[in-house]
Amino acid sequence: MAGGDGSVAMTPHVLIVAGSDSSGGAGVTRDVETIAALGLRSCVAVTAVTAQTHQSVEWIEHMPPGFVAAQMRAAIAANCVKAIKIGMLGTTGAVAEAATVLRDHSDIPGVLDPVLASSSGGALIVEGAVAALRRDLLPLCRVVTPNLPELALLTGSAAAPDEASAFRQAEELSRTVWTAVLVKGGHAHGSEAVDLLVQPNRPPLRFMAPRLAREMRGTGCMLSSAIAASLALGASLEESVRSAKQHVFEALGGPK
Ligand code: PLP
Repeated sequence: MAGGDGSVAMTPHVLIVAGSDSSGGAGVTRDVETIAALGLRSCVAVTAVTAQTHQSVEWIEHMPPGFVAAQMRAAIAANCVKAIKIGMLGTTGAVAEAATVLRDHSDIPGVLDPVLASSSGGALIVEGAVAALRRDLLPLCRVVTPNLPELALLTGSAAAPDEASAFRQAEELSRTVWTAVLVKGGHAHGSEAVDLLVQPNRPPLRFMAPRLAREMRGTGCMLSSAIAASLALGASLEESVRSAKQHVFEALGGPK
């Protein structure tokens, strides 16, 4: 391969489709860091460049949708991509382009973190793109990983006040888009952080971890990247969620 590194190209890669975050707290940096920590290599399609501190989103420049697709296709052509992690897409055009690439590579599992806002509160997706996300992208992904506010937006409901309501919303979403839904309970209350995995035609699963006092930006990015890394290595979705949760728990300072 002229000028290339064949041995690197053949190692399993996770393709990250996400925005950059200048603070380093979330987005592409967090994704690359997570995938590297789990022993895999990553390649990248940048959807947006953002200027952020840990407190606020100051500026967003969206990449042209066609350029997002071109980066994805080039990354897949250059490497042995075994999973695709999708984070911030930002615009309806980027959602449509990412969906087209995913459709062309339906053998590669996609993990979608439906990023709607920064943990600091700033919107990271334009109005109207949420409907496109649900209609065009969710059905193509192996799993989607909303937190409670994201789940509410995707189902057009109020934020679930308890686990039973979160389960009902996840069940409805999973049934309509025919995709696994992992609801992150980080925004809920109680001494345990409970995540629910709801899949079509399978019994739901509960994943529990003691709630840690420490808060950190980018844990959604970290969890979805860790799931993608595990799927890339051939693990089942259940195993991938379990190991990814453990990875985030340890990153938050939880015992090994
Ligand atoms: N992607 C980008 C570019 C971001 O800036 C953020 C949050 O700031 C996220 C994704 C989502 O981060 P989290 O993992 O905290 O949901």
